[in-house]
Amino acid sequence: MSLEWLTDELTRLQGQNLLRRAKCVTQTSGALVEIDGRRLRDASSNDYLALSCHADVRKAAIDAIEQWGVGARASPLVSGFGPVHAELETELAAFEETNAALLFPTGFAANVGTLVALCRSGDVVYCDRLNHASLVDGCRHSGATLKVFRHDQLDRLEKSLSREASKGRRYIATDAVFSMDGDLAPLPELCKLAERFDATLIVDEAHGTGVFGATGRGACEHFQVDHRVPVRIGTLSKALGSLGGFVAGERPLIEFLRNHARTQMYSTALPAANCAAALASLRLLRDDPSLPSKLQTLSRRFRDRLEESGVSPAVGSTGPIVPIVLGDPDRTLAAAGRLDEAGWLVGAIRPPTVPRGTSRLRISLSLHLSDSDVDDLAEAVAAAIRST
Ligand SMILES: *Cc1c(COP(=O)(O)O)cnc(C)c1O
Repeated sequence: MSLEWLTDELTRLQGQNLLRRAKCVTQTSGALVEIDGRRLRDASSNDYLALSCHADVRKAAIDAIEQWGVGARASPLVSGFGPVHAELETELAAFEETNAALLFPTGFAANVGTLVALCRSGDVVYCDRLNHASLVDGCRHSGATLKVFRHDQLDRLEKSLSREASKGRRYIATDAVFSMDGDLAPLPELCKLAERFDATLIVDEAHGTGVFGATGRGACEHFQVDHRVPVRIGTLSKALGSLGGFVAGERPLIEFLRNHARTQMYSTALPAANCAAALASLRLLRDDPSLPSKLQTLSRRFRDRLEESGVSPAVGSTGPIVPIVLGDPDRTLAAAGRLDEAGWLVGAIRPPTVPRGTSRLRISLSLHLSDSDVDDLAEAVAAAIRST
């Protein structure tokens, strides 16, 4: 079979300014990245609490490698699960105030594995239009009937739930914090709908953990609904600075997933080093619960500076993800290019990651940045937008 069509497809993407290449980061301190020999301040990463390079986190990983080696050698149900995994699951459950938690190789795998295990043929799963690709893929692969809803039109979700009785079970799946729009899901309203229509709510806190809520438990904690969300999914790869995914909930959910979630059962367990690093991060967050509010304060400062310069972030966005919708991919790339010249790395997000006509700069703040850094960044962003 010929694969020539791939070349045509790549040429087409290139022509539309939609071809992506991985930038090679040749050095990083977390705060700074070096790309093509140029040093840039990083406003594109998900390292919200600046933990990925923290001395305690590094040391925990190094010590774990010394003790356990690098790879976990087998899936958790064979011989890949050890005391560091057990300890992390226990501490994640304590952090989330649930009975139990289960580790996955990534957040992506946690979403796919959980949805495919829970949602069956005959069930209906309601999936937000702007959910992360991993939730969408999980819904699609699950065999349940997929219904797409919009969190700015919950009256339609309500109608759909009340009109269409399902013979099977019903699920509502949502990001807690929408990764490209930076807004929060209307979790109190979704809880009410789920309770009223006997649906199970599944919330992905990938960008919520460590960022929102008084103790960093995420948007569920921010809205004080965490105890009403039975399936809470998170990642160790963003604010916790490591790698891996997890699900937190009641013990039967967790034991069911341990026995049914294929992305967890048939994949090699997380390296002990990543678990040890995540444990160190969790403990840093526990010992200094002011970290999330520091990040929120920094984000408010940046948003104020932007508004003063006449730049408005996407409506509804809040916290460290600051999207500025510019519309077409060319203009977005040009603005990101100007920012690069000014010494800043920010994401230029284009279709298919976001809908057509909504290409955007996606600024992502972290505790690597100081007050004066975000002041500079706001000025640089305003100048870049004016000049394109
Ligand atoms: C990043 C992300 C994931 C995937 O997490 P990884 O641990 O990076 O695989 C899942 N959901 C959302 C909303 C994300 O932004």
